[in-house]
Amino acid sequence: MKCPICGNISESYERAFLKCRFCGLIFSRKPVFYPAADYQEKAKKEIYFKSRRKIFSKILEMLEWRKRFGKKLLDIGCAYGDFLEMAGESGWEAEGVEIDRKMVCRAEKRGFRIYSEPVEKLNIGGEYSAVTILEVLCLSEDPVSMAGKVYGILKPKGLLIAREFNALFHFGIAFRAMKAFNFLGIKPAISHNYNFTPRSIKILLSNAGFEDIKIRNSMPTSGDPYGTGGFFGGILTGMIKKAYFAFSQIVYFVTFRKVLISSALLITAEKGEK
Ligand SMILES: [Zn+2]
Repeated sequence: MKCPICGNISESYERAFLKCRFCGLIFSRKPVFYPAADYQEKAKKEIYFKSRRKIFSKILEMLEWRKRFGKKLLDIGCAYGDFLEMAGESGWEAEGVEIDRKMVCRAEKRGFRIYSEPVEKLNIGGEYSAVTILEVLCLSEDPVSMAGKVYGILKPKGLLIAREFNALFHFGIAFRAMKAFNFLGIKPAISHNYNFTPRSIKILLSNAGFEDIKIRNSMPTSGDPYGTGGFFGGILTGMIKKAYFAFSQIVYFVTFRKVLISSALLITAEKGEK
C-alpha cells in the first residue's frame, strides 16, 4: 500500500499498522472514526484543561503578532472551548469546529460560534488569520484533505499552528520502554490513525501549499492526563516528562536542530501572500 502522505512504498509494521519507508509515517491499515475524546466527568475535564493551559498560552504567544492581519481565529477540534476561552481573553474573535454534539452545546454556552460539521464540509474560506488544530490530524480519517481545507480557510499571511504526537517517540523510544517496564504499568506509547514523524508532517503541509513550515519539540502536557505513568502517579510522571522534554531539547540543539524526539511536536506553517 502507498503512503497517503508522500506516495512512497509502505510496509507492515506491528499488527494494525503500516510504515512508510520514506517519510516514516505509521498509519492504521483501516483508519477508524474517532469520536471526540470523552472528558465528561468534571474532574477529568479539569485535569485535561490544567494539563494544557501552558501549551495554550505558548500558542497564543506565538500567534500574537498575526492579529495585525485580522483577529479571526478558528480552533478545529475545540472540544469544550477551553482554548477558545483563552484566545477570546487575549483579544481574538475565536470560533471553533467540533463534531461532538455535547461538546458543541457546552462551547456554545460559553458564547462561541461553533461549527458542528467536519471542517472539510464547511462552506467557509479565506477569512481567518489563525487556525489551530491541536492533536486532531492524527485522528482524522483523511489528513490530506483536512490540511488542504485548512490552507483554504486561512487568509494570505495567515498562520496554522498544529500539535501532533511524535511517532519517533511513541513508536520508537516509548514503545521499547513500554516493553521493558510493563510491570510498572507504564504505557507511554500512544497510537492513532496517523502517527506522524517530523518529516511526514512537513510533506503533508508543504503539499497542501503551506510555506515556512517549522517543527519544534512541544512542551509536554503537565501531570499525567492520559494515565500513562502507572505506578509513578501524576506528580512523578509530570517530572519525568519535564526531564525528558529538557533532554529532547538538548538533542535538538546538539544535532543542529535536526533531530526531534519529544513526545509531541508543535508545528507552524504559513499561507503565502496569494
Ligand atoms: Zn510517506
